[in-house]
Amino acid sequence: MNASVEQLEFQAEARQLLDLMVHSVYSNKDSFLRELISNASDALDKVRLEALRNKDLDVDTSDLHIELEVDKEARTLTVRDNGIGMTRDEVVDLIGTLAKSGTAEVRQQLKEAKNQAASEELIGQFGIGFYSSFMVADKVELVTRKAGQTEGTRWESSGEGTYTIESVEGAPQGTSVTLHLKPEDSEDELHDYTAEWKIRSLVKQYSDFIAFPIRMQVERRKQVPVEEGSEETREEVTVETETINSMKALWARPKDEVSEDEYKEFYKHIAHAWDDPLEIIAMKAEGTFEYQALLFIPSHAPFDLFDRDAKVGVHLYVKRVFIMGDCDQLMPEYLRFIKGVVDAQDLSLNVSREILQQDRQIKAIRRRLTKKVLSTIKEMQSSRPEDYKKFWTQFGRVVKEGLLSDIDNRETLLQISSFVSTHSEEEPTTLAQYVERMKEGQEKIFYATGESRQQILNSPHLEAFKAKGYEVLLLTDPVDEVWVGMVPDYEGKPLQSVAKGEVDLTSDEESSEAEREEQEKEFADLLTWLKETLSEHVKEVRLSTRLTESPACLITDAFGMTPALARIYRASGQEVPVGKRILELNPNHPLIKGLRQAHQDRPDDASVAEAAELLYGTALLAEGGALDDPARFAGLLADRLTRSL
Ligand code: ADP
Ligand code: MG
Repeated sequence: MNASVEQLEFQAEARQLLDLMVHSVYSNKDSFLRELISNASDALDKVRLEALRNKDLDVDTSDLHIELEVDKEARTLTVRDNGIGMTRDEVVDLIGTLAKSGTAEVRQQLKEAKNQAASEELIGQFGIGFYSSFMVADKVELVTRKAGQTEGTRWESSGEGTYTIESVEGAPQGTSVTLHLKPEDSEDELHDYTAEWKIRSLVKQYSDFIAFPIRMQVERRKQVPVEEGSEETREEVTVETETINSMKALWARPKDEVSEDEYKEFYKHIAHAWDDPLEIIAMKAEGTFEYQALLFIPSHAPFDLFDRDAKVGVHLYVKRVFIMGDCDQLMPEYLRFIKGVVDAQDLSLNVSREILQQDRQIKAIRRRLTKKVLSTIKEMQSSRPEDYKKFWTQFGRVVKEGLLSDIDNRETLLQISSFVSTHSEEEPTTLAQYVERMKEGQEKIFYATGESRQQILNSPHLEAFKAKGYEVLLLTDPVDEVWVGMVPDYEGKPLQSVAKGEVDLTSDEESSEAEREEQEKEFADLLTWLKETLSEHVKEVRLSTRLTESPACLITDAFGMTPALARIYRASGQEVPVGKRILELNPNHPLIKGLRQAHQDRPDDASVAEAAELLYGTALLAEGGALDDPARFAGLLADRLTRSL
């Protein structure tokens, strides 16, 4: 081996993925060509933009193109571009490792993907880009030179855990990927990737819309006279270069002339996806602002959906020319999972992100697109409920962020949202469905927030609602805690937390009024004393109609901040004061009755005060809260237990 050739190992996760590829579990091997062409096309977009940005960059962008080259003897297929290229470090980074954002999840899924179907699903969902070469090749060579640099890099691997890398002289700018095709496919006409017809049909099927010419040397056969004037002919074979894609932008073509499959392949290219989109949205606006948009709702949420720097997935084109990827001015953040392109006619070709921020036209486009996406989801909700359900499972958590940030569309957002509720274990409910089921006399939409459905269902706050048959929305996403505080109502029905403010669930009982007055009197002393004893923790102690089984629970003021919300603010770095809460007691519970009696009989007994402390602590634990001083609580409890044995 040459001394300057280095052998390196693939990162562990990358190795596992490669392993899947080498042993080719994926049923559609043909996809490899789409991936290589897609990468080449991205690289061409990048070099064009870089050349615009950096006038000193020494590159020729006058003939950006992709070349496919076949060597039938050697059984190789080469995909070459004169795009941006890669430095040596970039090759190691980009090809030797997986994108950081997904690694943990991929590792987990790889572990779980035991069988063929699971692996296939994983590949379909994650997308395997460059590595898909190893489905058809037992050796891959990549030679690349970054635009503006003199030294090139040669990379080679058989996909078995290691690769070699070395510097090379005289590499042309851009990247060429040469696949040494697996011998087993040579016998199989359907997978002979050296056959011209095969390559043509793959490009037509997967990559026709690529905006740069995809060229190939093709053989032209024609009958020519053996000699001038002769009747007899012979076959003459000439080789010429042909562009085999139409380069037509899909979004510029009339909708009814584009097939569903063409849209899907385009989606795979721009979204770097391997699966089909859930929904395709094609739009055309004429008039003052002329633009076309082609948007996709993916079938699966990406792994980095909640990364702080996750990008918006819409690309901006101006008159068919790619201007900017991930253009966050075109979609609100809560629709960051939408993929697609917007082609605006009247923008300048060298528009910058800064200019876009101020641009009236872009703002208008964004408003239109947002409304269109939301109305499409609404339409899906009524006409394709299964797809809507898939959509909501994947993206609901993000869409709900819009309830905070997009006041203009709040009504629509509430309509397209659905929530788990106490009505059904499996089927989430829309607010409209909830309202339809509301009990007679019920004026509010009840909800509970918490970390998990189970935790909420077990919390004391829910007891009376359950016992009396009121439906309660069970909100468990972190964002729920925030939006419920800001959205006052749904179509005139106020939203009411089961753990906040005053709730009166006794109104349907005739005798309640008199009974309650009686109880208030009976417990008045206890309440006053408890308020004083627990003043460090609570600001008020009162009787409750919320409880049927538990002795006590903690309530937040109608306008106060719940502990969970305070935690969220704190996690985002904001310091927030946590107000004291209210302790509500169940006057029918033996513990509360006993406590009342004990306080009456032995008002100064320290052990009664300890019982009060334990009562407060259990109320906090029951709702999933954390004790200020768990050791003290455990000590008090152990004492009690000892005495009771
Ligand atoms: P993805 O395209 O989804 O990022 P790939 O596995 O297809 O994933 O490619 C990984 C990375 O390698 C690309 O993001 C790009 O930075 C780099 N790359 C691949 N092919 C090329 C190419 N032909 N020219 C320049 N860079 C490339
Ligand atoms: Mg790719």
